Amino acid sequence: MGLKQKAHAAKQAFDALKALGRDPTSLTFDAMSGPTEGMLDRRRVALFGTNNYLGLTFDPEIVGRGVRAMRDCGAGTTGSRIANGTYADHRGLERDIARFYDRRAAVVFSTGYSANLGLLSAIADDGDHLLIDGDSHASIYDACRLSHADTVRFRHNDPDSLARRLARLKGSPGDRIIVVEGIYSMLGDLAPLKEIAAVKREAGDNVYLVVDEAHSLGVLGDRGRGLCEAAGVEADCDYVVGTFSKSIGTTGGFCVSDIADFEMIRAFSRPYMFTASMTPAASASARAGFERMQALPALRAALWSTARRLHAGIAALGFAVASAPSPVIAVVLDTPEQAVRMWNRLIDAGIYTNIALPPATPGGLSLLRVSASAAHRPDQIEAALGAFGALARDFAASGRAASAA
Ligand code: PMP
Repeated sequence: MGLKQKAHAAKQAFDALKALGRDPTSLTFDAMSGPTEGMLDRRRVALFGTNNYLGLTFDPEIVGRGVRAMRDCGAGTTGSRIANGTYADHRGLERDIARFYDRRAAVVFSTGYSANLGLLSAIADDGDHLLIDGDSHASIYDACRLSHADTVRFRHNDPDSLARRLARLKGSPGDRIIVVEGIYSMLGDLAPLKEIAAVKREAGDNVYLVVDEAHSLGVLGDRGRGLCEAAGVEADCDYVVGTFSKSIGTTGGFCVSDIADFEMIRAFSRPYMFTASMTPAASASARAGFERMQALPALRAALWSTARRLHAGIAALGFAVASAPSPVIAVVLDTPEQAVRMWNRLIDAGIYTNIALPPATPGGLSLLRVSASAAHRPDQIEAALGAFGALARDFAASGRAASAA
């Protein structure tokens, strides 16, 4: 297909979506009034489609430290740390993160997306093998493209599939780098990390494990370190990747490791070298966000209590829910059209969720992604369940026809 035909086909697909209601790709909030509330088309909506797991985006300490840093150091850094210099908070943030994880070193990136690109493309070279979960986030897939390593996919959350792929590589040279996520962002399921770590241990010396804790930092583990901590396998996880854009409440990404000279990735990593570094406001806010996350473990308990209530409430209404209770509750629908209609109906009822459609979804599923936050109020949770309840009644009335919603 030529360039113009591709654009035309894309326009037709979007027009078809728009014909069902709002265009999910151009939805614009007029204003945000707190971590779980915003204005959409001049109407108040409760936000159940964020990654604001601990509800920290409006935390006064985090906002205040960001504002002060912006005043003191400016609105931007205007370039990369290699070319234009490191700011004190970049270093301070790296020290904070390394201490938090009890690891030798941390490297921060401008986003979590670039942390995956930057780490994986720097450690996996020509002749190495990246073994990635089939449901990996786009940043992991894109990292494989940027790296010159061979990419091998294994079945989602299937340690036996991983073991078979590793066995097939027996005898070939190069490092084996396994990449998994703590909590998967679309379906909300957890990696079987204990089993994956056991497969890694059995596979030999030149096998490494990278865990992307984007959705599990601050969410899992006694100290909030993520699934590696919760599963008791931190010693087997050679690299932990994370983002400040979810539970920490700002933007930026990082990687930590105990591997000797790990920090040298700064000199090989294109996403570290060729894009502007974290802004002063973002790095100061990230430092404050880490402190708040550690000082307020009650937020984690509140998040899980809300997640369980939402999961149980939605499942009890008869909706298919993709995984066990977690802060991401994915409602599986029959068709993309049904998902778009339901998503619109929920917004009409004042409830904002995420819509996720094929081909961007695992298994080509049509999903409504509902996410929990420690900041959700009881009345918001009941309103969300009430809106799902009204949709369930419509389903029942029309025999669960795809057009019901
Ligand atoms: N990894 C995973 C698993 C993610 O879900 C995301 C964001 N959705 C990222 C990395 C990228 O994070 P960021 O938004 O900070 O670029």
